[in-house]
Amino acid sequence: MHIHVGQNMPGYLPGSDVFCVDFVSAAIDYLRIELKSLQGDYYERCEGHCAQCAEFEACGSECCDWCDVATDVEAALSHIADQDTYSRLTSGNGVVFTFSPPEGADVAHWIAFAEGDRNNCELNEDD
Ligand SMILES: [Zn+2]
Ligand SMILES: [Zn+2]
Repeated sequence: MHIHVGQNMPGYLPGSDVFCVDFVSAAIDYLRIELKSLQGDYYERCEGHCAQCAEFEACGSECCDWCDVATDVEAALSHIADQDTYSRLTSGNGVVFTFSPPEGADVAHWIAFAEGDRNNCELNEDD
């Protein structure tokens, strides 16, 4: 048993860009970096240009739809920071966080358990 971290982003093939790891902690670190980068993209698309957005602070849903979805990403990051993601994974369940940006398809970021040994996994990029 090992772990995969992935995302379904518009323009990517399903299953592409999957990260293959041994440990829950590594999977969570990777997911957190991905979510931070996603959140940064959403803030950059902010249409309101309010003072808080200019500082890259969450301004809640009052600014625009992009900040709204960035706030949803913040909730996922809190789930990670509060160790909720960790306890879910260590109890054997995967996690998926889905976001609905104002344009384009929904975006899902997930961690799932994969069968078999990581050394035999075709997604393992270590050599
Ligand atoms: Zn794998
Ligand atoms: Zn905004």
